[in-house]
Amino acid sequence: MKKKKILITGGAGYIGSHMVSYLKEKGMQPVVFDNLSTGFSDLLTDDIELIEGDLQNINDIKRVFEKYSIDKIMHFAASSIVSESVANPLDYYRNNVLGCINLLNEAIKNSIKHFIFSSTAAVYGEPEKIPIKEDSHLMPSSPYGRSKLMMEYILSDLSRIHGFSYAALRYFNASGAEPNGIIGEKHAKETHLIPLILKTAIGDLEKISIYGNDYPTMDGTCIRDYIHVVDICEAHYLVLKAMESGDPGGVFNLGNNKGYSVKEIIDAAQKITGKEIPSEICERRLGDPAKLIADYEKINRSFGWKPKYNLENIIETAWNFTLKEHEKNVLNRKKEK
Ligand code: UDP
Repeated sequence: MKKKKILITGGAGYIGSHMVSYLKEKGMQPVVFDNLSTGFSDLLTDDIELIEGDLQNINDIKRVFEKYSIDKIMHFAASSIVSESVANPLDYYRNNVLGCINLLNEAIKNSIKHFIFSSTAAVYGEPEKIPIKEDSHLMPSSPYGRSKLMMEYILSDLSRIHGFSYAALRYFNASGAEPNGIIGEKHAKETHLIPLILKTAIGDLEKISIYGNDYPTMDGTCIRDYIHVVDICEAHYLVLKAMESGDPGGVFNLGNNKGYSVKEIIDAAQKITGKEIPSEICERRLGDPAKLIADYEKINRSFGWKPKYNLENIIETAWNFTLKEHEKNVLNRKKEK
């Protein structure tokens, strides 16, 4: 009989690649499925089996289940940029909803036991109360948030009748990098605040744009709850282990229970990097709520999880990765000459 494996979709992406590395540390051998549209195969070590495939192509998914005996899935493969989803909603529903349904269809045929879904704080929209609890009003303000919420509902319906357990982990702002600096947040088209600030610090960008300074917050800029990617991985692992021991799973927030404004992040990054980081105030970005801060009491109570990394650690590890990537790029450019 084939050995049971865990499938990591989107394992060549930012959070997925950290998850793969985390599971390897725990002695597991995950299989990665990724179309490499936004992921990078060099975020994976050579011993990791990467199946290049797309969730829109059912035959690609079938290939995975034919080759391996998969009994658990962590599903990271998705599009995740709020502004892009506002501009191209159909792409988001196709990739995030249809893609996940295709995956679940094959998973159910193959008697999957556990499914962990990457959800998001974007399912809450503009919250009525801060910090946000899981039973808060669900009113996503973007197609991205709606696509994730739809999948939460679908998972709840399917798990009930097909006998698998699922957890939907609602990440607040995933950030930081593995402390060794080997893997980190890397996107061909970067839109996220911390990597853009650090690219400015290193001189790859002239300045950082602050999207709006007229929000109802203390300095007018948006407040977010930044959570370290390794803390996110630990939460997945704890939830998986609990589900394997019979826990039914559920919906959980993953955040730090602390909020920082865009300006505060820039100030913190200036201190940690020792670099000047020029900024300019720009128009608000579509779909951005003013303030998102997590209440993580539910996952703490259920599985004992709490974040180990604070904002300083987040920026330090992200900066370490930025420096290493910068060095690599400079060397590559020299080689090309
Ligand atoms: N942001 C900004 N300038 C940028 C990128 C982001 O002011 O170049 C702001 C954005 O409006 C939001 C916060 O930083 O309030 C975090 O944005 P990010 O894209 O990192 O994550 P999101 O909250 O959209 O998931």
